[in-house]
Amino acid sequence: MQTMSQAEIDLEFMLNEFLATGDLQTLPTDHAVASDLAVCRACGETIRNGLVRCSECHAFTRLEIEAAYRDKVGKRQQA
Ligand SMILES: [Zn+2]
Repeated sequence: MQTMSQAEIDLEFMLNEFLATGDLQTLPTDHAVASDLAVCRACGETIRNGLVRCSECHAFTRLEIEAAYRDKVGKRQQA
């Protein structure tokens, strides 16, 4: 069985939640990263570091999440 890193497990969890709800805004560890801030690379808005998507423009905050999301959606649509 393939071993997944913690980061991959977290990413998988986020994607499953995102695909299930369509609009996941926070991570399970949100309470622990409330003081961590990031800047949206699309619109420049200051957002919480744990967000999957920018709360202002809804751009994905991490390229690997966007890539994995597109990969999952693509596979789902082909099925
Ligand atoms: Zn933005």
